[in-house]
Amino acid sequence: MSRIRAAYHDPDGTRYGIPTYWWRGAPPGYATRRQLTAAGLRPGGQPVAAQVLWRGVGGTRTAYLYRVDLARPKRTATPAQRAAIGKALTARRTCRICRQVRPYYIPRSLGECLACAFPQEDAA
Ligand SMILES: [Zn+2]
Repeated sequence: MSRIRAAYHDPDGTRYGIPTYWWRGAPPGYATRRQLTAAGLRPGGQPVAAQVLWRGVGGTRTAYLYRVDLARPKRTATPAQRAAIGKALTARRTCRICRQVRPYYIPRSLGECLACAFPQEDAA
């Protein structure tokens, strides 16, 4: 490692206040906002966890790092969330009278599927 890199290496944050690493020197588990976005994540309200310093145009440049384990999904849900959502949607499509899972949401006003509410009609 060069002296410049060593100057930017402060994993305990004693010099800079927050854990500081040189460019590409950050341990796994940290990501920039841009990297989180690329992974479909967002910081999720967490504070900046660490920073990366490097020598760039105009002097020392800074990139803020966030903890990946605290990041939240941006658009796509996690498998666990998808499962929970799927369960909730299935519940909304399940008639509590005949226990059939319908291709539509059980109307709240009826509280049962159309086949149960209107037995003589062809309401599947
Ligand atoms: Zn029913």
